[in-house]
Parts: sequence; C-alpha cells; structure tokens
Amino acid sequence: MSIRRPKRETPGRNTGHQLGAIRAHRGLAVGVSLCLSLLLLPSAHAQRTQLKPGWNKFSPQDDITLGKRAATDAAKQLPSCNAPKVDAYLTQLGTRLAQKLPTSGVQYPFEFHCVNDKAINAFALPGGYVFVNRGAIEAADNEAQLAGVMAHELSHVALRHGTNQASKAMLAETGLGIFGAVFGDSTGGALVTTLGTFAAGGVLLRYSRTAESQADVMGTQVLYDSGYDPRAMAQFFEKLEAESKGKNPPEFFSDHPNPEHRVERVDEEVEKLGGVQPNFKRDSAEFEAIKREVLALPVVKKPTPGALGSAAAPAPPSRRFAEYQASSYTLKYPDNWKKYPDSDGAGISFAPEGGVLDDGSGHSSLAYGLIIGVAQAKGDPNDGKALNSATSQVIQDLQKSNPSMKITRQGEHLRLNGQPGLSTYLINVSPAGGQETDWVVSVLRPEGLVYFVCVAPQSAYDNYDKAFSTILDSVRFSR
Ligand SMILES: [Zn+2]
Repeated sequence: MSIRRPKRETPGRNTGHQLGAIRAHRGLAVGVSLCLSLLLLPSAHAQRTQLKPGWNKFSPQDDITLGKRAATDAAKQLPSCNAPKVDAYLTQLGTRLAQKLPTSGVQYPFEFHCVNDKAINAFALPGGYVFVNRGAIEAADNEAQLAGVMAHELSHVALRHGTNQASKAMLAETGLGIFGAVFGDSTGGALVTTLGTFAAGGVLLRYSRTAESQADVMGTQVLYDSGYDPRAMAQFFEKLEAESKGKNPPEFFSDHPNPEHRVERVDEEVEKLGGVQPNFKRDSAEFEAIKREVLALPVVKKPTPGALGSAAAPAPPSRRFAEYQASSYTLKYPDNWKKYPDSDGAGISFAPEGGVLDDGSGHSSLAYGLIIGVAQAKGDPNDGKALNSATSQVIQDLQKSNPSMKITRQGEHLRLNGQPGLSTYLINVSPAGGQETDWVVSVLRPEGLVYFVCVAPQSAYDNYDKAFSTILDSVRFSR
C-alpha cells in the first residue's frame, strides 16, 4: 500500500519569520544624479526577501554525498527519457538558473535528468541532483513555466530543505528510526542500504508548507534574475491546480504541498524585486522543439497487474520464522522478509525482497508485507468503544494518504495474544498494479493503538494469508 503514515507535523504557515523582508529605503535614490542612481540600482535588490537555510545537522558536503548516492540509485530505478538532446537542454537551462541561485558559497554539482514518466512532477535531491518528469515538460506552456519548476526545485537545494527536514526528524526522534537506518551512524557519513538509498531519499523529499513557500520566493528571485517572467512558476502551479479540479491532484503536490496564498506571495515578491519588466523572457523556439521531442517519446508503462506472477513478484513467504523484539511486544516473521524501520521511529515494516516498490515519485510503498504502527490513543484495552474510535481514526488517517482506500469489512472482534482486537479489511490500489487487500488488526495498549496492516495484491493474497495469521498469532505483548 502506498502507505504514507498520518503526519504528525503540522505544516507551518507560510509567514514564518525566515520570510521576513529586509526593507530598504525606497526614497534613497530620489534626488541623486542619474549616474549615481544607476550605481545604486542594486539597492533595489536589497528589498528582496532574504532567505537562508534553516538549522541543519548535516554539512553541505553531506548534502552532496547523500544526494549523489540517492541520485545514482534513482537513475537506476527511474525510466530515463533516453533523449540526450532533452537532457542537454535541461542541463543548459538548469545551469543558467543555478548561476543565479544564492548558495552561500557552496559549489553544488548540479545535474539534470529527464525521467520518462507522464506524471507531472519534478524533484531535487540534496546536493543538486534534479529530476524532471517528461510530464512536467509536456504540461508547461512555455519555457518560463518549466524554468519556474526548476528554479523552485533548485531553491530546495540551496535552502537545504531535505536535510533540514531530516535533521528536525532526527531531533524529534527518541528511538532508532529510519534515519538511524538511512544514515547509519547518525552523522550522515554512511547510507545503509536497508531501504535502498533512493527509497530513503523519499524521506528527504517531503517538504513542509513553509519550505514550499520559501522555495517559491527564492524560485521567483532566480527567475527574475535570469530574465524570465517571475510570475511563470506560480502561474504553472495555479494552472495545475485548476486543471485537476475534481480529479486526483498532480503528483507534484504530494511532494510539494500548496502553501496558502501561493500566487499572492509570489506577486508580492515580484513587486519587491521591481515588478514585471517588458523584456522578460517567456518562451523559446528551443523549448517548443524539446517539448515536441518529449511528446513523441515512447511511453514507459508503470508496472501493471500483468506483472504479477512474473519475475517481478517476490518469493512466497518462507515457512521458517525469525523473531523480532520491539520494546512492548515480540513477534515472528518469515525469515526471508526484511525489517524496515519507519521514519517516525514508532513503527516498523516487514517485507520480502521486491515487496517495497517505488511509487513512481521516489517514495517507497509497501506492496507485500506487514506494517506495524502505533497511534496516539487512550482507553482501557477492554473498552470496545475506545478501540473502535481509535481504529476509525487510524483508518481515516490512512485513507487521507491513500485516497483510493475503501473499507470492505469491519467491526469484527478477535483476540490478539488474549487481548481484544478489531479486524478491518480494506481494498486499495496496489503499487504493484491492480488492487490490494489490506487487513488491519488493532489493539489498545498502554502506549496507544497498536495496529498491524497486512498488505498483498488481491491476486496474490491467498499466498500471504497464512503467513499473516502466523505472524499475528505469534504476537506477545509484554506485561
Ligand atoms: Zn517544493
């Protein structure tokens, strides 16, 4: 299931103090000679919003090291456009934009890649590794809009949002969470391959609304300084939003949540920069040629249901079991499954080799296996009402991040290690293609609602059913 666990973080407002403008005196140039006022022109720029990277546990060099490894992995996993002309064009455009990017003196090794994916998306890994989906090029009306998306991505790099986010998560964490697994020694030195480095990269690509707003503002500045119509970026996002009304929003917004008043904030920045100039560039013949070339590229299909049973499907669950010990319970799991600690530190997943798939945008989704989570909930373990309501809350949260997820059977009682539990069956779109079955078993414990989500594509569920029951039967709570 493309499980994105309920977010605990409340996205910040887009009016964070880091966005505070440094105002210069507009009247400064009044009354001085023309020659002098020309010299003073840069003072107009002092009005722009000043943005600096936030607190970070990692060094810029770590950004480059982590980003490079994740990028190498991404390049292996994502279908390339295999169009040297397109990559060359993106590199040329991206390099031009990057020259106007304030990086506080850090030399990032910028790279630009075209991904053969129709989904409208783009992402940048720390250190400057930018991936642009063909869908984003196809959706852009002109070069300025594409430049806008790229300037936005480059701003995430310069503002070091990926590792800033990771740093904050590490700070908030008590137990060994994903960053222990991802960064190995917690200093960012070693990326452990438990999750695959690119899947781990997914952790680096979830931005808060504050980060989004900052990337919008800096992206606008970069566009302006590169001579592009600085409104193009916000116009592109606005257009995406309008076109997706009543449909699933484009993938871009799942990585880059829409900050409030996006367009207004950009317009404000454009004013600070000096307003829209008549000679701003909007399009180029080159962009139009590249867009035609991209539109003609062969379409690479994402994995389809037909792939099931093929070499891509994982090996069936082993009948031999290994033991896992958490702080408040133990259980047994098939010994050919691996453990994947969760980013929030409280949960863990178990999946066979090939059971965790990329959902097409760099996020890892579990298609086969078991996810265990703990949600905040209070109540007596024997209180059926409290169990019901806590379970409903968890299911609703899961549905928020999995919009296709629907309940098929619910409200059945069972016992887990002698404790009253609730069984819920759901149906969802499988990252492996087709539909999947999600069997959720939940129990109220002193630490909260402990829930087990057993996941397998519908067509393969029978092969997993027994393993899921064996695992749940083996659960032993402490105390
Ligand atoms: Zn963004």
